[in-house]
Amino acid sequence: MDKVILTGDRPTGRLHIGHYVGSLRSRVELQNKGDYDKFYIMIADVQALTDNWDNPEKVRQNIIEVALDYLSVGIDPSKVTIFIQSGVKGLYQLTCFYMDVVTLARLERNPTIKSELKMRNFGESIPVGFLTYPISQAADITGFDATVIPVGDDQLPMIEQTREIVRSINNIYGDTLYEPKAVLPENEACRRLPGTDGDAKMSKSLGNCIYLADDEETIKKKVMSMYTDPNHIRIEDPGKVEGNTVFTYLDAFVKEDSFEKYLPEFKNLDELKAKYQQGGLGDVKIKKFLFEVLNEELAPVREKRKYYEEHIDEVIAILKKGTEEASAHCDQVVDRLRRNMKINYFDNDDIASNYR
Ligand code: ATP
Ligand code: MG
Repeated sequence: MDKVILTGDRPTGRLHIGHYVGSLRSRVELQNKGDYDKFYIMIADVQALTDNWDNPEKVRQNIIEVALDYLSVGIDPSKVTIFIQSGVKGLYQLTCFYMDVVTLARLERNPTIKSELKMRNFGESIPVGFLTYPISQAADITGFDATVIPVGDDQLPMIEQTREIVRSINNIYGDTLYEPKAVLPENEACRRLPGTDGDAKMSKSLGNCIYLADDEETIKKKVMSMYTDPNHIRIEDPGKVEGNTVFTYLDAFVKEDSFEKYLPEFKNLDELKAKYQQGGLGDVKIKKFLFEVLNEELAPVREKRKYYEEHIDEVIAILKKGTEEASAHCDQVVDRLRRNMKINYFDNDDIASNYR
């Protein structure tokens, strides 16, 4: 079995540091290790339209933004196929067939769908396309025979649902699809980075993000107004580290040499946390440190972005070539499924065999 990696993002906004630690950073590591047969990254515009159907222009604009984000964090189009979901027509066919093996009750039980529905306040008017996007996501994964899916933990229920669909299809039609495996970041803080407001998840839809493309001043402003411990009022007060977003971000971003470079009076994060808990360490100090750490990581990303912004035709060509490549692979999977379903009526004369 080939090792095929697939991940994707919804073009609903620019990518943020939650994406970076949850998925982008490990994509670049995987890419550089080279231990795979194929590596796909999908810009999920069809999925983005399920809750932005009335604002297609937003989705359209963000396709380029997301592509720029990929390239600026170091995704290398000579190693990875970047493509646009809507251009891969085989995916619509797979989605359609998979719909038959999933019940409405199962979709309504999907925990990610449940919380996303609540967040979006659809009330009684839930778009069918939104409710069924886990099925279309199963098509996205299986349509390229993907086996390894690096994601944040909000995606685990989606991968589980995909595995169920694969098992159903294989049971009915014989071995056709591969069961994918989710790969989460080892560092727990990275699996679901909270928003700058302390909300459980940094999310484009919640507006609590530090974007990869934010300039230095913007990052500084966002960091300085971040949620910490509301009871840590004076510097002398003992502070809480758990649920303190600044510390969660430090957990996700601090490197071995960060203290030596930007806060040499402490040796490591454990020492810094202990001091904060004991009292005598102000929020301004930890926020300034976090800003330095973040800025060091994001400055080269901004630089690279500038290059691609000035060479936008290169970006378009990358997307076009990637979408063609991805389509060719997906067509093979569709053919395989149609053959196993025996609905490839015109490939042979089987359909008329009773009459011959
Ligand atoms: P939207 O609000 O439109 O759903 P989003 O910010 O949740 O946007 P997605 O495009 O849905 O972003 O997610 C893309 C990938 O990034 C997924 O693998 C997801 O798990 C991961 N991801 C998104 N937000 C975070 C986060 N805060 N921490 C870790 N990983 C995240
Ligand atoms: Mg999301």
